[in-house]
Amino acid sequence: MPLTAKFELDAGSRTFATGLLPELIAALRDADPGDLIAVVSTEASVGVDLDAWCRFTHNSLVDTSVEDGRNRWVVRCGEAPRHADTQRPVGSRLWLYTNFDCNLRCDYCCVRSSPKAPRRALGLERVRRIAVEAAELGVGEIFVTGGEPFLLGDIGEILSACAAAAPTTVLTNGLLFAGRRLEALRALPRDRLSLQISVDSPTSERHDRHRGKGTWARAWKGIERARIEGFRVRLAATVSTDTEAEEFRRFLDRRQIAEQDRVIRHIALRGLAEQGIALARADLIPEITVTAEGVYWHPVGAEDGDLFVTADIFPLAEAFAAVRRAFAQEHAHQHRLATIFNCA
Ligand code: SF4
Repeated sequence: MPLTAKFELDAGSRTFATGLLPELIAALRDADPGDLIAVVSTEASVGVDLDAWCRFTHNSLVDTSVEDGRNRWVVRCGEAPRHADTQRPVGSRLWLYTNFDCNLRCDYCCVRSSPKAPRRALGLERVRRIAVEAAELGVGEIFVTGGEPFLLGDIGEILSACAAAAPTTVLTNGLLFAGRRLEALRALPRDRLSLQISVDSPTSERHDRHRGKGTWARAWKGIERARIEGFRVRLAATVSTDTEAEEFRRFLDRRQIAEQDRVIRHIALRGLAEQGIALARADLIPEITVTAEGVYWHPVGAEDGDLFVTADIFPLAEAFAAVRRAFAQEHAHQHRLATIFNCA
């Protein structure tokens, strides 16, 4: 589905050489940072110039589509918000999407998970091999996510293999800690495994609106259960605005949740989300992400073509090298453009 933009600029057959640029600049003047501007043109060559222009001007090309012979590009006005951890070396963290099905269907899920989504399981044997090779590569942290990982019958073995390789965090909605799943959790090492459980708001209203009725209260039960079992629990909120982020921060302060046990991030405009921060590949420092389909640039778009790197997971060293090569090339490209732009 094409991205909805705040401004639509119909360029007809104009290109950068024939009058498109002044119109684009005029549209930018009316836009605020973060706004999306769509450029529609019959000229496919506009895409190359638009991509280069975005890199010059610190805007981002976040979407490309073709419909009825007309090309449509979406540009996000301004740079993506900076994160404090941009210095983290590529390959120090490894993300595994164990599956894509989920017991919930959150309306902003970045990988379109739901009870009806096909499982697309990575599988225990592949996870075991990845864990061994990740340890050899010096991976410092493994993140296990989905979908809902606790839907898997062998999630205990999967987490155990990961935790043996590196300190591991499993991202979960926290709703399934009962019966055999609770038994699987109980058997896992407390000193090597943490849980990251989603809670979006201080009260149930906003959380339940996005994730389903009653899920806020059930998530808290999951958090309490995991704590009783002796696991470190990190709380992760997905928010729409800075105000919501601040409100949640104050809530965590009142509960005396330590800084290292909180994650607050904005909704990303990917997957099912209809609003959020539009993130292009150039905005994201790679965090190598493995799914059943292959290796991706970052977990926020683990089924999106623009973040796909290679279908070959093994050897993992080569997959890591492919991501690093692509990152180095894209950095070099940005640097080259910056040099060309130098007027004196
Ligand atoms: S956001 Fe998480 S809990 Fe919600 S549907 Fe997606 S994977 Fe499931």
